[in-house]
Amino acid sequence: MTDLSRLKVLVSGAGPAGLTMAACLAARGCRPVLIERAPAARTTGYGIDVHENGWDVAARLGVLDAIRAAGMELGPLCYHDLDGRLIVRRDGALLERSARGKLVVLGRDRLVAILEEHLAAAHDLAPERGRSIAALDQDEKGVTTRFEDGQTGRWDLVIAADGIRSRTRDLAFGSKAVGAVLPLGYSVAAWHMPGLDIPGNGFAGFMGIGRQALFYATEAGRTAALFCWRTDDRPPRDPALLVPLLRHLFLENGPAAPLIRSALEGPVDWSRAHVDQVAQSVMPGWSAGRVVLLGDAAHCGSFLSGQGTSMAMAGAWILARELARLNAIHDATAAYEAQLRPVVDRLQRAARRVGPHYLPASRRALLLRRLLLPVLTSAPVFALESRGLMPRSLITDA
Ligand SMILES: Cc1cc2nc3c(=O)[nH]c(=O)nc-3n(C[C@H](O)[C@H](O)[C@H](O)COP(=O)(O)OP(=O)(O)OC[C@H]3O[C@@H](n4cnc5c(N)ncnc54)[C@H](O)[C@@H]3O)c2cc1C
Repeated sequence: MTDLSRLKVLVSGAGPAGLTMAACLAARGCRPVLIERAPAARTTGYGIDVHENGWDVAARLGVLDAIRAAGMELGPLCYHDLDGRLIVRRDGALLERSARGKLVVLGRDRLVAILEEHLAAAHDLAPERGRSIAALDQDEKGVTTRFEDGQTGRWDLVIAADGIRSRTRDLAFGSKAVGAVLPLGYSVAAWHMPGLDIPGNGFAGFMGIGRQALFYATEAGRTAALFCWRTDDRPPRDPALLVPLLRHLFLENGPAAPLIRSALEGPVDWSRAHVDQVAQSVMPGWSAGRVVLLGDAAHCGSFLSGQGTSMAMAGAWILARELARLNAIHDATAAYEAQLRPVVDRLQRAARRVGPHYLPASRRALLLRRLLLPVLTSAPVFALESRGLMPRSLITDA
């Protein structure tokens, strides 16, 4: 058993992965430094779900009740054409059963706030905001970092939890990180719509050729809107370009459902929206000497996998446990990757398979999808299909 109180650890990025990592390390006696590039707490507006792996980590950290209180149990799942005609309606229990009863939907910002509060209350730790690594150099004994603010630091271990476009990954892996971000051929725009409830607090999907709009309640009176479409281009972030594009895709190809209309015609705080390509991070290995990748920096599966948050939290738990169990840092990072990698590889493959069905490329493919949807969402087929996207818990206390 390693004495983690002597280990000097820098965690870069205070999203779900970095915050969980800091909490797991602190629970084992380490006092990591956690830095976050964003100068203030972000309220980037999209909803996430916490599945079994995240649920089990949250329970061990003592934040599960807070997460459940901040989020929503699942309501009905409804699929429609873009004009609002219902294709299929299923009870929320369908998803709940496939998730083995461990599933909660909430805003990403709410989860981050809960983890931050826990870190402060339980360990008197807080992310150092407005800080990021500018340069990184390592030898056998440690890693030296220079920060954007000119300060320097020396560490036994640096954990890159700075998301799919991880700068720490680029600095540590150099040419091996080229091509780490794999665009899947779709773009996404997602935001929260305060004051809007959807019927039954469930999921409402609207599908057309090469596009899909999804709405889901993340708490009472707060609905997440997610618009996704086929394209190889990066989406414009400027609302002056983005709004006409979304309106063209979702409003100007025939009658549009009222939910789509209210999302695209109502006021939106674009500064809080998430607009990006749908992409995965694919790295042949997750550690370079004393730098190790965590969460989306290592294995982003895209929102199509539905497991990014839970696998980021599971990775943090496993990495902290292996650091405490094994003496050599290299052994611990290798053990962490060996346990997590098979599952996230499977999830990434599943997400790549899901994409073309999620966004049918032609009228024929859409028609087929429409016809198949009632079968695919029938209880036995759904249970079988969702097995690939809902991995069993990797969290053990040993
Ligand atoms: C639209 C959308 C919907 C999603 N839906 C789901 C879902 O339903 N279920 C699910 O499980 N997952 C979902 N995901 C994925 C989920 O959000 C991610 O997998 C999860 O947030 C990964 O956490 P992370 O901490 O690794 O990365 P991030 O959440 O990206 O956090 C990275 C953090 O690092 C910071 N950072 C970035 N660069 C630097 C730097 N250079 N220095 C310091 N800090 C830096 C960022 O500001 C951020 O705070 C969704 C994602 C999107 C985009």
